[in-house]
Amino acid sequence: MREPEYPNTLNYVLMGIGFGFIFPVVATVLDMRIHDLEFTMSSVIRIQTMDPLHWIIDTAPLFLGILAGIAGFRKDQTDSVNQHLEKIVGERTQRLEKKNELLKSEITQRKKTEEELIKAKDEAEAAARAKTQFLSTMSHEIRTPLNAVIGMSGLLMDTNLENEQKDFAQTINKSGENLLGLINNILDYAKIESGKMDLEEEEFSLAHVIEDVLDMVSATSIGRKIELVYDIHKDVPDFVVGDTTRLKQVLVNLVRNAIKFTEEGEVVISIRNKKQEDENIQLLFEVKDTGIGIPENRIGELFSTFMQVDASTTRKYGGTGLGLAICKRLVELMEGDIWVESEEGKGSSFNFTIKAGTSTKKLELSIPENLENKKVFILDDNDTNLYILRAQCEKAGMSVTTYDDPSAVIKDLENLKEFDMGILDMHMPEKNGLQVAEEIRNRYSKVELPLVLLSSIMDLSGAEQREKFNLYLTKPIKQTLLLHNLERVFGDIKGILRSKEKEMYQEFRAGKQIRILLAEDNTINQKVASKMLERLGQNCDIAGNGVEAIEMVKLIAYDLVLMDMEMPVMDGIQATREILQMSDTIPQKPVIIAMTANAMEEDKKRCLEAGMEDFLAKPVKVDSMKEMLMKWFPVSS
Ligand code: ADP
Repeated sequence: MREPEYPNTLNYVLMGIGFGFIFPVVATVLDMRIHDLEFTMSSVIRIQTMDPLHWIIDTAPLFLGILAGIAGFRKDQTDSVNQHLEKIVGERTQRLEKKNELLKSEITQRKKTEEELIKAKDEAEAAARAKTQFLSTMSHEIRTPLNAVIGMSGLLMDTNLENEQKDFAQTINKSGENLLGLINNILDYAKIESGKMDLEEEEFSLAHVIEDVLDMVSATSIGRKIELVYDIHKDVPDFVVGDTTRLKQVLVNLVRNAIKFTEEGEVVISIRNKKQEDENIQLLFEVKDTGIGIPENRIGELFSTFMQVDASTTRKYGGTGLGLAICKRLVELMEGDIWVESEEGKGSSFNFTIKAGTSTKKLELSIPENLENKKVFILDDNDTNLYILRAQCEKAGMSVTTYDDPSAVIKDLENLKEFDMGILDMHMPEKNGLQVAEEIRNRYSKVELPLVLLSSIMDLSGAEQREKFNLYLTKPIKQTLLLHNLERVFGDIKGILRSKEKEMYQEFRAGKQIRILLAEDNTINQKVASKMLERLGQNCDIAGNGVEAIEMVKLIAYDLVLMDMEMPVMDGIQATREILQMSDTIPQKPVIIAMTANAMEEDKKRCLEAGMEDFLAKPVKVDSMKEMLMKWFPVSS
């Protein structure tokens, strides 16, 4: 701070002193005149000593002058401090005003930015909506021609073709399937990213989930020396509540990868109970393989989109690099984590957890009683398999002996060790299951010692080889069915039973005629669907749009209408509503099943709300068409 200035101080002091001097001088001069004295020093002294009061009066102004000087100086000092303070206050006020201005302009700027942000958010949301809409429309548009590609090439493969032609048709079919997989992946990814993926909540059996997964992937293990096994820990409940479709999706992805990257060894799926709370359970899944493994430095980025460890794997194994990214997001949706442990050249173990609701429901599959105390031996070179099979058989009260070496079994049998049944693995390093069976059959007939062969789908080629066995089970073995299959061996040891499904299918083909109306506007799709129905021994009439469909339903008593959702003139939803409204006046109320390329959950809902009974997603395959017909028109009805 600067020192204040006192400009008048000298003036005050000088004036005070001046006045103080002039006054006594003038008074003395006047006094000398009054007393008629000469102007001499002695006269001055005389005057001043005449009366001491005189002297005091004469010198008083001098002191008054000095006092006035001091007072003036003080006043100046105060004024100056005041001025200085005023100046500071003024400056501060100015600064505050400036800051105020600045704040005001900042607030305006912020408001503007906020508005811009809101606008940008709205635009982004609209763009995201448009993206999902675009993807769903695209997927619909692509699925329709794909339907024709997959359907027609599938039909083509079953006609009389030369080898080369068959190969071409197979390539078209496989590429179509791959493309469909890719579209599904992209659609899924987009759905998850846009937060559109809603989880369903239903009660489901974990064993069935794993078995379904194995059904879906086991074909890909054909030709490889892979044991595909699963193990559900005993503290895992039979049923839980959650989204089985999404869980299956994650498992299929992981198991498919495990098989893809494993030439030899085993792929084991296991489920454990990680944490049990009152209403929730945390399940830990593991998919472990003995494949090529993953280099340590690539593990971190494995769950990113379009990430593949080695570009050459794409050429060799196919794939898009989207699978694990989708798995990660799905697992996170199910409130879990996913991680991987791997050693290059030794194998990988993909682990994930999910949170599911608890359920007290039990698997209704009863344990067959007549297996109790039966003595069974199991011969397999794979420890995991032996462990799981033993646990299963012991559940039914069987007495189990396990062997990993064929000669030990033969030796025990030669020593007349008694068994009621033997389970043999097909693939073993020294002697395969067939060779062991041959040796056993030299001594025991099929009735004396029933034998069960465990083999992969590929091995089931030679019919004469099956002769030696009472039953063969394809791997992966379904634990829920194993015991019932074994029971069947004792019930009927005459031969190999065909699967129930196959019997039904053949019977279905031979006997059942269903009156079917196909409502579909696309001529290629009309052809594909009617050929498929023909394959299943069925004929169908065709309506090109909803109005035509209604007219035909009025005239003919159809059992079933396969209804496309999107058609010109009148769409499937509207047509369904109208048909169901007039169900009293038409010859017969048909079962209406939607057939559509729209893969979204909402579309399914819309169909069901309109009164359709079920939903066939395009591209429709012969198997799903067959299943649908068997479901709604079972042979026994
Ligand atoms: P892709 O469709 O290419 O299989 P994923 O996201 O499922 O896509 O897998 C990404 C990559 O991770 C694969 O290309 C492969 O390099 C690696 N990978 C996944 N699973 C395994 C496994 N079980 N063993 C070895 N590598 C694997």
